Amino acid sequence: MPGPKNADGTLAWLRRRNRQRVMEILRMHGQISQADIARATGLSRTTVSTLVSELKEAGLVADIDTKSAHAHGGRPGVQLVLRNPSHVVVGIDFGHSHVAIAVADLAHNVLAERWYDLDVNREAARALDVAADLFAEVLSEVSAERTSVLGVGMGIPGPVDRAHGTAGSATILPGWVGLRIAAEMEQRLEIPVQIENDANLGALAELTWGAGRDCSNFAYIKAATGIGAGIVINGRLLRGATGTAGEIGHTTLDEAGPLCYCGNRGCLETVASGPAIVQLVGRVNGETLTLSRIVELASGGDLRCRRALADAGREIGVAVAGLCNLINPERVIVGGLMSQSGEVLLAPLRESIRRHAVQAAAETVDVRAAVFVERAELLGSVALALLGSDGGDPAQNRVAALSQAESRP
Ligand SMILES: [Zn+2]
Repeated sequence: MPGPKNADGTLAWLRRRNRQRVMEILRMHGQISQADIARATGLSRTTVSTLVSELKEAGLVADIDTKSAHAHGGRPGVQLVLRNPSHVVVGIDFGHSHVAIAVADLAHNVLAERWYDLDVNREAARALDVAADLFAEVLSEVSAERTSVLGVGMGIPGPVDRAHGTAGSATILPGWVGLRIAAEMEQRLEIPVQIENDANLGALAELTWGAGRDCSNFAYIKAATGIGAGIVINGRLLRGATGTAGEIGHTTLDEAGPLCYCGNRGCLETVASGPAIVQLVGRVNGETLTLSRIVELASGGDLRCRRALADAGREIGVAVAGLCNLINPERVIVGGLMSQSGEVLLAPLRESIRRHAVQAAAETVDVRAAVFVERAELLGSVALALLGSDGGDPAQNRVAALSQAESRP
């Protein structure tokens, strides 16, 4: 590639860079109009128009008919999509008791999906093997070659040490201690793998397909067995120095409170996590309830279950109020199993934000339920492979390399 040594070289370099930028925007949005590409890149409409014509000629980009999308409330006008049917990305989700996998094309369509029940917490090595088998299965289902996979995103249900590709906490995932998860998976698949925690993946799923689609500053709260936040600032995930940004479940609410498994006292999770709610509700009619059953009973009007979830919502709201003061999000998107109780959880959570956050931040924030609950992490893993992380991301680099190789200078 010629460097910017002379005027011609500079122009060619600039054009290539702009073309890459357009490809990147298309990959992030799945489908987007030419005018929106101009807005997103800051390039002039004329420049975008020229670039798009070139990309169409090279067979990399195509128009799609959006009349039907418009009829269903989508945006009108001609939309563009990446035309690369031979290229796909894969998402792998390790839950506490399942392995799930999905393959998607670059226009953000999920082409195939598989779920497998397994005690993931204890059987780490087996979970990785199962994922590798499912990987081969979904690829053959969509007739894709291993070489056509641009990237793999992977989720684990707990904190992630992104620098080492390991589980960030031995107390949360005992079976995964010392395992270099990303490296292990890469070895099995022979493809670069990125890992991310469940709350961040939920945020990416909502950003790409759900309640955060039209929003670039929001906090996604996962309220389930654990409580965590995925924070999106200017359309990008905030990870922090070591990837633990958003651990609001371990916000201290009461310094003299009960001991938390993290080693501190009075964390939010000691009063509002799934296990804390299960313990609070106790046995009903001789039956020890699960969180999922409690949510179901609350929706059916059970007063004790409603109260337990409402109190959890109030406590979560205290921590979220602090988050609102710090990042002033446009939206708070609440996901995880508890969010299925709807307003039972959300109303007190909203009230708590109003009471504890600065007025300007509390007044404008829109608190709503997430679109995805069960598939949040799986879709988030797919989104992770599609969107990539900031720089140094294998999928992004491979797409950039491809667009360079396939487009003329
Ligand atoms: Zn804690």
